[in-house]
Amino acid sequence: MTVSVVIPIYNEEENVQELHSSLREVLETIGSEYEIIFVDDGSTDSTLALLQEIQSRDSSVIVLSLRRNFGQTAAFAAGFDYARGDVIVTMDGDLQNDPNDIPKLLALMKDNDLVSGWRKKRKDPFLSRRLPSIMANWLISRVTGVSLHDYGCSLKAYRRDVIKNLKLYGEMHRFIPAVASWYGIRIAEVETMHHPRKRGKSKYGISRTMKVVLDLITVKFLQSFSTKPLQFFGPIGLLSGLMGFLISLYLTLGKIISGRDIGGRPLLLLGALLIIVGIQFIGMGLLGEMMVRVYHETQKKPIYVIKKVIGPGNK
Ligand code: UDP
Ligand code: MG
Repeated sequence: MTVSVVIPIYNEEENVQELHSSLREVLETIGSEYEIIFVDDGSTDSTLALLQEIQSRDSSVIVLSLRRNFGQTAAFAAGFDYARGDVIVTMDGDLQNDPNDIPKLLALMKDNDLVSGWRKKRKDPFLSRRLPSIMANWLISRVTGVSLHDYGCSLKAYRRDVIKNLKLYGEMHRFIPAVASWYGIRIAEVETMHHPRKRGKSKYGISRTMKVVLDLITVKFLQSFSTKPLQFFGPIGLLSGLMGFLISLYLTLGKIISGRDIGGRPLLLLGALLIIVGIQFIGMGLLGEMMVRVYHETQKKPIYVIKKVIGPGNK
């Protein structure tokens, strides 16, 4: 088993030296080949120079320098593309995660495809970080059906094939377990250490909450309806169209039977609106269906994943 450690780093000049030395100390003890991939996410301080210097001393280090600050998710994705290990470990570059937990994660990788860290005793401010995080973890677990205590923990380990099949967008890295669950993977969770940030500044604030909620909508939609969008939009459209139709029918019958004027009635507007919205939703669903076909058929992407074939001629 070979191990790649992927670490996104953005303006962490005060942390990289200690990060590298403590990481190296731990990785030397695990008894497998390893590489450390530092992804410099367009740092504007001396981070890149320091990483370069570290690389010149340690040949197991690879430094990827991104052209500008693309964000943590993109930095992870770049690292994943370069990683050669059978197991890929991710962690933060600010020493809040503890490299000493890596062996614990690796031990669990024998029977799992993904092992996620759980910062049970998280050392971050309560109101701005821990409280939103508790609510987010609860919500994400409920919505995606993948129960983890700590989606936000960067310290995770993945089997190579899990990560290589994933495409990440936006701020999606925290949803990797949920996205990957589509492949039917085995997930384990393990308690890990967490330290307060000693040096450097956190790159995020409370505004992250809204991004997480929006990404959650994307993930949920793709998880449930990515191969059948009309099943999502269709029922809404049908219901809306039907209600509009019934309202219009009621107005028409009123006109025919008791001669009541339709023109000045608010219901008319509602009826027409519901019909138009209904048609829109169904149209959107149909467009979605076409996009699904374009995507899967031109990319030759199947809508299933085979684990193994059991039968003559196969191992
Ligand atoms: N990071 C990054 N690009 C960004 C923002 C953050 O590579 O645009 C890195 C950062 O250097 C750190 C990790 O992502 O290694 C987590 O960031 P941070 O510690 O600021 O997040 P927090 O722990 O406060 O949630
Ligand atoms: Mg941090």
